[in-house]
Amino acid sequence: MPRPLQATIHTESFRHNLARARLAAPDAKVWAIVKANAYGHGIEHVFDGLRGADGFALLDLAEAQRVRTLGWRGPILLLEGVFEQRDLELCSRLDLWHTVHCNEQIDMLAIHKTNVPHRVFLKMNSGMNRLGFTPQRYRAAWTRLNALPQVDEISLMTHFSDADGALGVAQQMAVFAAVTRDLPGERSLSNSAATLRHNVNATDASAHPDTRVASDWVRPGIAIYGSAPDFPSHSASDWGLQPGMTLTSKIIATQEVAAGASVGYGSTFVAEQALRIGIVACGYADGYPRSCPTGTPVLVNGVRTRTLGRVSMDMLAVDLSALADAGASAGFGSPVTLWGRAANGTVLSIDEVAQWGTSVGYELMCALAPRVPVLVSHEGHL
Ligand SMILES: *Cc1c(COP(=O)(O)O)cnc(C)c1O
Repeated sequence: MPRPLQATIHTESFRHNLARARLAAPDAKVWAIVKANAYGHGIEHVFDGLRGADGFALLDLAEAQRVRTLGWRGPILLLEGVFEQRDLELCSRLDLWHTVHCNEQIDMLAIHKTNVPHRVFLKMNSGMNRLGFTPQRYRAAWTRLNALPQVDEISLMTHFSDADGALGVAQQMAVFAAVTRDLPGERSLSNSAATLRHNVNATDASAHPDTRVASDWVRPGIAIYGSAPDFPSHSASDWGLQPGMTLTSKIIATQEVAAGASVGYGSTFVAEQALRIGIVACGYADGYPRSCPTGTPVLVNGVRTRTLGRVSMDMLAVDLSALADAGASAGFGSPVTLWGRAANGTVLSIDEVAQWGTSVGYELMCALAPRVPVLVSHEGHL
């Protein structure tokens, strides 16, 4: 029998979360962001749940090829554009749309031989200082691109640094609006946080109309995986999102720990009183963060308890006495939910576990280890 650890991908959650993103931006087209192998879920595993999207956005050319192999004939956008000249040949061959964020990419386009001009997304660095042309250089880039026979439609794009936080999007949006006001083309601005929190697409948005730019294409990533972009300000359930992934295992051993005895490497947890603990087949080699300390929430038989001591490579320990105090019992073979939805419907959000490990849901899902078997479930639980 294989190790009892498993990740379950909830296809119906993906459908639901995609619909949730559409509800927040009813007039926009939706890029489903599937970079980093669909945030660790596996592109092939999430594809069915996301086929209702208007396009798939990612940044690895091999991943783009995989989306085409799955039979997707609609738009695919390379979020970082091309890295070298020959990438443009693949763009032509697979009909990939690509971001243009620097002059070197325009140089490559200018000498690219193609019969079919490319659809490009011209990126502005409106304040994040990662990718894109500065507001001062943006129009010159647009003019240069627009003059190339290799280029078809030019869409206008930027990315927010603080859509999930107190700073918000107003400043960057004002910069973008001022520079692009009279340029033609579709706009793409909003990631999950901007789509959910700043609702720039809503017709009743309170933002000033002269600095408000609606996204013709929104770019939700984390939200479609069922994690809150702005935890703990909002939880996934506050946003009406369903967990896209559940990580489950089982208790493979129990121990009676005497008062004063310790648990795990480094003896970081010392029992104040006698305890019964369960050893779970899941460790940091599976992608469970080693940084999660004693007290991190975990579900055993669908009931919340806590981890104890350090996370090992292949195992971690959970408190079964706390569970008994809660009126539940567990032992060898009891199911454990590390994050996601337990069989009884109880949800432990990946964001909460991540926060205990001083991380974010994004990082935990991306870190799911290749050794963890993945099951794609089509069952609904809404
Ligand atoms: C990753 C990414 C997104 C999605 O961000 P989320 O916070 O996961 O919604 C959107 N746009 C760009 C350019 C990205 O790189």
